[in-house]
Amino acid sequence: MAHFRTVVGLLFFCCIFKYTVSAPQSDDYVYSDEDLKPACDDSNCKLPSCSCFGSHPSVSIQDRPQFLMLTFDDAITVANIDTYNKIAAKGVRMTFFVSHEYNDYSLTQKLYSNGHEIAVHSISHESNTDFWRDGDETKWKQEMVGMRAMLTTFGSLPQAELVGHRAPFLQTSGDSTFSVLQKEKFLYDSSMPSRSYMDPPIWPYTLDHGYGQDCQIEPCPNGNFPGLWEVPMVQYHRISKEGDFYCSMLDACTPYPVTAMDTKDYLMKNFLRHYKSNKAPFPIFLHEAWLRDKARLEGFLQFLDEVLKYQDVRSATIRDVIEYMRNPTTHRQFQPYRQSPPKPCNKVETCSYKEPLRFMKSCAMCPKYYPWVGTPMGRIPPKNFPIN
Ligand SMILES: [Zn+2]
Repeated sequence: MAHFRTVVGLLFFCCIFKYTVSAPQSDDYVYSDEDLKPACDDSNCKLPSCSCFGSHPSVSIQDRPQFLMLTFDDAITVANIDTYNKIAAKGVRMTFFVSHEYNDYSLTQKLYSNGHEIAVHSISHESNTDFWRDGDETKWKQEMVGMRAMLTTFGSLPQAELVGHRAPFLQTSGDSTFSVLQKEKFLYDSSMPSRSYMDPPIWPYTLDHGYGQDCQIEPCPNGNFPGLWEVPMVQYHRISKEGDFYCSMLDACTPYPVTAMDTKDYLMKNFLRHYKSNKAPFPIFLHEAWLRDKARLEGFLQFLDEVLKYQDVRSATIRDVIEYMRNPTTHRQFQPYRQSPPKPCNKVETCSYKEPLRFMKSCAMCPKYYPWVGTPMGRIPPKNFPIN
């Protein structure tokens, strides 16, 4: 019984302790030993190249910025560019995970020129998730390195600035995917959801000592990938009359908010979980279609207006956040990462193809064939193209 009382007492103490330290003005929340990979500590993992799972920037919570990481996935087209421009008008920096099909490379170049980050999200965006889960290194390389080459060529973007990756449907193949990212000199992945580390939320970390968080979509990597950052997709909590739901992308939680007020409230509740604990970057991970609803867009923009008034909130690309992690400063001193300029896109080419029937807007001369997996420069006819 005495032992039982001690355990209860300890549990009570832990809860009080946890509550006290996660308030914004107090010291950092310290992850318990079992949360941490035993091999990673300050002696064998040092910034700027290495950051342990569970570590935080060496700036007090009060002084560190609260980042808003706004990302959109899939092709950039004339159908979604207006929404992106409306959001950009708020002074917000965004990261776009771009896939090839229907992508307008001239609009992509323009977004990059305006300071947004461009990252890769595959060529084919194949809809069968087994394709991604079972894909070997050759397949992942063809899709992701091929996509980077297309953005460099048809979007006139500097290859060295295309460093981010998100897997279609967040389905990686574990080690094969991460090996390719590391060998091909990507800087980060942001495909891995975390539900166990939502409260307090987790900061990005490097995979020098392996994958640290929970595995929500099997398989997760087992190996070590020095220098490669993981930017966890800290999940959202949606509270509604129908019940409680968790999701990795804002638009995956149902029921969808239908009023501006409900949308703003959904975002704010999740934002405050970050802001009131350790200020881990707040992900706003989305597809543009969710904002086609007028009321939802209004609530979304109201949320941005409100939180951007906070003196310590900064909108940031994922690259900004990683550069900050490498060299942390106070929110007053924070400087966004400066990308090298793109080549100009003076003459936009409209390339048209019959097999498959596709149009492509390009900053470079039109390739002979429609660029595809295995032929990203369009020099030979595409193979294995899905039937329309
Ligand atoms: Zn996608």
